[in-house]
Amino acid sequence: MLEKKCEFNGEEVIAEFEELTRDATAVQRETLRRILADNASAEYLQGLGVAGRTDPDSFRACVPLATHADLEPYIARIADGDTSPVLTATPVTSISLSSGTTQGKRKYLPFNQELVKSTMQIYRTSYAFRNRAFPVEDGKALQFIYGSRQFTTKGGLTATTATTNVYRSEEFMPTMRAIQSQVCSPDAVIFGPDFTQSLYCHLLCGLLYADEVRIVSATFAHSVVLAFQTFERVWEELCADIRHGVLSPTRVTAPAVRKAVSALLAEPNPALADDVARKCSALSNWYGVIPALFPNARYVHGIMTGSMEHYVKKLRHYAGGLPLVAAEYGSSEGWVGANVEPETPPESATFTVLPNIAYFEFIPLTTSDGGACADASYAEAEPVGLTEVTVGEHYEVVMTTFAGLYRYRLGDVVKVAGFHNSTPKLKFVCRRNLMLSINIDKNSELDLQLAVDCAAKILAAEKLEVVDYSSHADVSCDPGHYVIFWELNAEANDDVLQSCCDELDRAFTDPGYVGSRKARAIAPLELRVLQRGTFQKVLSHYISLGAPVSQFKSPRCIGRSNAGVLQILSGNVKAFFSTAYD
Ligand code: AMP
Repeated sequence: MLEKKCEFNGEEVIAEFEELTRDATAVQRETLRRILADNASAEYLQGLGVAGRTDPDSFRACVPLATHADLEPYIARIADGDTSPVLTATPVTSISLSSGTTQGKRKYLPFNQELVKSTMQIYRTSYAFRNRAFPVEDGKALQFIYGSRQFTTKGGLTATTATTNVYRSEEFMPTMRAIQSQVCSPDAVIFGPDFTQSLYCHLLCGLLYADEVRIVSATFAHSVVLAFQTFERVWEELCADIRHGVLSPTRVTAPAVRKAVSALLAEPNPALADDVARKCSALSNWYGVIPALFPNARYVHGIMTGSMEHYVKKLRHYAGGLPLVAAEYGSSEGWVGANVEPETPPESATFTVLPNIAYFEFIPLTTSDGGACADASYAEAEPVGLTEVTVGEHYEVVMTTFAGLYRYRLGDVVKVAGFHNSTPKLKFVCRRNLMLSINIDKNSELDLQLAVDCAAKILAAEKLEVVDYSSHADVSCDPGHYVIFWELNAEANDDVLQSCCDELDRAFTDPGYVGSRKARAIAPLELRVLQRGTFQKVLSHYISLGAPVSQFKSPRCIGRSNAGVLQILSGNVKAFFSTAYD
């Protein structure tokens, strides 16, 4: 029954997609109608006087734009066990935890079967286009994916990351099989209790199925890079495990993971171990390690846009000549678009919006300085519909979903790159309120402010103050790290500043950051203490570029492209590196 449901015919999927995008305006109207009709009894919609109306004009007139903070009280009630129709008519089935861009706290979001359905739709659509460009028959995928821990909310709902909710759904494995993306590793590895053990086992399982691997992938490109950086260090141990048919007792200790992987290792395989060792020895600086180990792999797949773009260079190195294919654009809130032009290099990848997965609006954004994302202050105009966007313009994405989010501001800035039939192709630009991000970590202006406040308490004991501060995600070295710039009102001694630096590092509690720091995927935070008067120079710099003094706000994060300000902040400093995670 499941297998039947997941039969896959790429050309049919593409034909459906072409049909769906031909008259996106009509599909959007119908999508909104369905969302509002299905959820007419929801307290949120009733309270706003939607009164069963389902047309876009009434919807926009009654329902205001909302942020997560606006919906949080409703979602909290659901998490606490309120099964009445709060946001959706039928109760949500679980909670997704986003990575958390506000106050270092993870956002709770409603998750339901509709999101599983749209996830499968987007996987199948993107695979159909990928498979047309890079055909794969009968194979497996070496997927560096990791289920997150889950917990039960007060009201008895499962709460975990959206990806884990998807991995745990009934549809996930059959769909993966249908699109030739069956994971090499057993479930116990994906859901293992320890990330480093799972990573080791993913590599081992990939080697055991080396000839069958057709796709090498991860949700985020960064995980693929991290996997092969790890491979550089552990390949000899992996070879020893394969040679003797025994899983390393020190690398992998979790009983369930050991049991599942040991079953695959069953027999000693010296021929495979020799083969892997020979291939590794023949490589120069690990260039092309992926095609060397997995000769039948057709491409590397994962999110390579936005904050992941930094990893494309290293990924190309490992991938040798294999194509890199940028994966879809979505969030814990819901999916936005699929990459239907898989041959486009990741740097220029766009995402074609699927008009039936949500009702979309776009807030037009204009920048006065056309500057780097994190520095730009945008002026907003009235939201426009999916098919009303203009090529070349910037917008913030607003979604109304089947999981109970209405006119929800996603906080992402996109640029319209063109149209596929009548639906737009979006280029991801940046997160609107996100400032600091190296890989999967996400910290906002507020997170930075809270971290600085926290560390400044140490200064207060010395009767010192932070006059001004800023930050920068430094990715000029690998791994990248956060740089926090401080200007103080007087001289502080080095021990105090070292403590402040450690405290700053600890104060970023975003799980993506903490996890990456522990896994050494983000290097120690750097505190740079500036000469007095430095921020005055920054102000003068902006004024010289025409910024109005009355509206000037110290830039809290300096983008990579803002060489002028970075130059000012790099002169005459004392630098400290955190030891918080040593
Ligand atoms: P989360 O809800 O924690 O999964 O984070 C979702 C956010 O990750 C989105 O709102 C985007 O900012 C970012 N994101 C997701 N997919 C992509 C992509 N393909 N390219 C760039 N950024 C992405």
